[in-house]
Amino acid sequence: MPADYHTHTPLCRHAEGEPEAFIDAALRAGLTEYGVSDHAPQPPEPFDDWRMAKADLPEYFEWIERARRHAAGRIPVRSGLECDWLNGCEPWISELGSRHDWDYLIGSVHYLGDWDFDNPKWLGRWAESDVDAVWTHYWRTYAQMADSGLFDILAHPDLVKKFSHVPGGDLDRFYEPVIDAIAAAGSIIELNTAGWHKPCAEAYPAPRFLELACSAGIGLVISSDSHAPSEVARDFPSAIQIAKAAGYRETVLIKKHQRHSEPLPE
Ligand code: ZN
Ligand code: FE
Ligand code: FE
Ligand code: ZN
Repeated sequence: MPADYHTHTPLCRHAEGEPEAFIDAALRAGLTEYGVSDHAPQPPEPFDDWRMAKADLPEYFEWIERARRHAAGRIPVRSGLECDWLNGCEPWISELGSRHDWDYLIGSVHYLGDWDFDNPKWLGRWAESDVDAVWTHYWRTYAQMADSGLFDILAHPDLVKKFSHVPGGDLDRFYEPVIDAIAAAGSIIELNTAGWHKPCAEAYPAPRFLELACSAGIGLVISSDSHAPSEVARDFPSAIQIAKAAGYRETVLIKKHQRHSEPLPE
């Protein structure tokens, strides 16, 4: 099985499980590597109620160390963060990047302006929004995140579809500019299986996006975005089939920001 680099810890306050339980799940799934990438702190604090605080970083490092001790000799454990792409966030991301010897940083668009649009708390805001306009704003923001070049992995590419708000017509008009931006920046994307368990009932990104990404030479990781041990490597066999159907033959391994590839399993 490929690596699973997008996983959370209880420090973000909406995940549960001890490091040992996450590692046991990774071992059971036969993953090549396991990576921890909890929701990064974000000033000004409290920014929202679904991330660790700056003061939690030492405890986060200790959590990863516990995972490593438990995993020792059995599976490599990589350290990362899931960072939020926000207007003017670049200095903060750089500072975060220098606070630890990270293996990778993941970039995510969860916010459009002050709206964390994937938060079920604010579903009402979707009802009063023009879906085409939200998609345009989302993909422009995602391309800006790619352009920044600050992230090793770009998360859940079409998260904006989470609650099944999808414009009509050919979606390539949204996909093509962002594929160009990701390819130019040399970042890689993830195939995030959590979408299968959301109202959209589809992994992020859609198969068509994945096909365009593969044609553009954009590297791929497969991620569960697990918030509990039972979700580690969830749906990886299906994700592997989808990646292959899009043309992928390998996934990426990352250590200290350096990439290697491994073939997808038969
Ligand atoms: Zn989360
Ligand atoms: Fe996310
Ligand atoms: Fe996540
Ligand atoms: Zn995520």
